[in-house]
Amino acid sequence: MAKHEHARVAVIGSGFGGLGAAVRLRREGITDFVVLERADSVGGTWRDNSYPGCACDVPSHLYSFSFAPNPDWPRTFSGQRHIRAYLEHVTDTFGIRPHLRLNHEVLRMEWDADALRWEIETNSGSFSAEVVVSATGPLSDPKIPDIPGLSDFPGKVFHSARWDHDYDLTGKRVAMIGTGASAIQIVPAIQPQVRRLTLFQRTPPWVMPRMDRNITGAERRLHRALPFTATLRRGLLWGIRELQVGAFTKHPGELGLVEKLARANIARAVKDPALRAKLTPSYRIGCKRILLSNTYYPAVAQPNVDVVASGLREVRGSTLVGADGSETEVDAIVFGTGFHVTDMPIAPRVIGADGRSLADVWKDGMESLRGATAAGFPNWMTIIGPNTGLGNSSMILMIESQLNYMADYLRQLNVLGGRTALAARPSAVNAWNRKVQARMERTVWKSGGCESWYLDANGRNTTLWPGTTGEFRRETRQVDLSEYEVIRAPRTAPAAASRPSRTKKEAAK
Ligand SMILES: Cc1cc2nc3c(=O)[nH]c(=O)nc-3n(C[C@H](O)[C@H](O)[C@H](O)COP(=O)(O)OP(=O)(O)OC[C@H]3O[C@@H](n4cnc5c(N)ncnc54)[C@H](O)[C@@H]3O)c2cc1C
Repeated sequence: MAKHEHARVAVIGSGFGGLGAAVRLRREGITDFVVLERADSVGGTWRDNSYPGCACDVPSHLYSFSFAPNPDWPRTFSGQRHIRAYLEHVTDTFGIRPHLRLNHEVLRMEWDADALRWEIETNSGSFSAEVVVSATGPLSDPKIPDIPGLSDFPGKVFHSARWDHDYDLTGKRVAMIGTGASAIQIVPAIQPQVRRLTLFQRTPPWVMPRMDRNITGAERRLHRALPFTATLRRGLLWGIRELQVGAFTKHPGELGLVEKLARANIARAVKDPALRAKLTPSYRIGCKRILLSNTYYPAVAQPNVDVVASGLREVRGSTLVGADGSETEVDAIVFGTGFHVTDMPIAPRVIGADGRSLADVWKDGMESLRGATAAGFPNWMTIIGPNTGLGNSSMILMIESQLNYMADYLRQLNVLGGRTALAARPSAVNAWNRKVQARMERTVWKSGGCESWYLDANGRNTTLWPGTTGEFRRETRQVDLSEYEVIRAPRTAPAAASRPSRTKKEAAK
């Protein structure tokens, strides 16, 4: 018989978002919850991205939970292995293991308006929950573009987020497709090892130097002995980034100076004027994510690297044809082409109160209330939802704000008592999005003259938050009940936990 479990809260995903939610639930005294994770271990981004050179691009003391400081970060920008180990450590320290349901991919969840709960189907059994916290990640499902002829390529093909460690690149002719945040870490890591590296670039990124260094033993001892010094360090890192926000969101002209520094960064490493021209962007810095690396330009300037600045058009056998007509024969193709972001992969699997999926409701663009809840989807919230991304600071700050919101949401449900659900009012969702989109007009992401993954198919920026992290923290401190409709279960309905669920009945058949 198929397994069924009921929990007050079902968290989906076990990256920073899902684990953060789990810790926060326990801190709120809620232990009746499960964490459904499709993979066989926790870690999300930092489990899946194990490519050579993978590291965070926000300093580790800021790119970690405020409630779980790590005095032992080895580098200012620590590598994937250490961040993954940190998340395993958080899982153990806060007693999250018993709540984990690994190898449970959520296939579908549907709101049961009579029982006021979510019915959740996974590939390893069914669940029901009064509240769903969806933390499936904004950069979780790799995107490989539909390139004509790719399926007939005889060599090796993989995405940066699914690195094939069994395939040895030594002495191979390798094509790297894309020049985003992952690609600029991969290129310097594999360039010395491969015979030839051809970089297919559609738009060059702006790349600034990375202040990366080992964190000394003395610093670590200090942070361990006097924890407030680590808090101070985090505060400084946060404050500097908060001061930068206005340039991105209100005064893009101020980024001109940064652009000069970035040009100097290219000139320092790339002496060939033709290559320099290929690598110099024509849009305002900040319009796409500013990337940080000391090794990218020096690697690209090496004699075994070519840049095809027109992008990849077609694959013919083992030959890659650029949009400029150039032909390159390769043994392996590595896609650093990003993720499904504005078409959130969980959205078609979430069926709301009126039987429509979230993907259907969001077909013209993602819209939520305070980055968390959506009209028509009671007691469902997402971590890192629409317009919560950042261009210059740590996503953990945003995640922790959303955890405050989640905690207050659950408190409000307690205060309301009985079997209750909160449904975001469409008017509140509209008002929030009108405000966010009005502010977006002035941002560099809109006016900087680039196309980026921040924008959806309609050219709307539904991914980034156009303000400071402090402002988002204030906006999400508490749930404003006037923005929600309170739904109460009909008096005659049996209690949720004892009522047999549809999936239970199906299982019993
Ligand atoms: C290479 C890389 C580097 C990055 N560096 C930084 C950085 O330096 N600073 C920064 O602020 N941000 C960075 N980010 C962004 C990063 O994604 C976020 O900071 C953060 O890790 C997201 O956490 P999350 O829990 O929301 O998502 P994820 O870490 O993606 O976790 C989502 C989890 O949900 C699971 N899941 C998805 N769908 C289902 C399903 N249907 N059923 C069950 N489980 C499911 C996934 O398996 C995964 O474990 C980086 C992203 C990448 C890809």
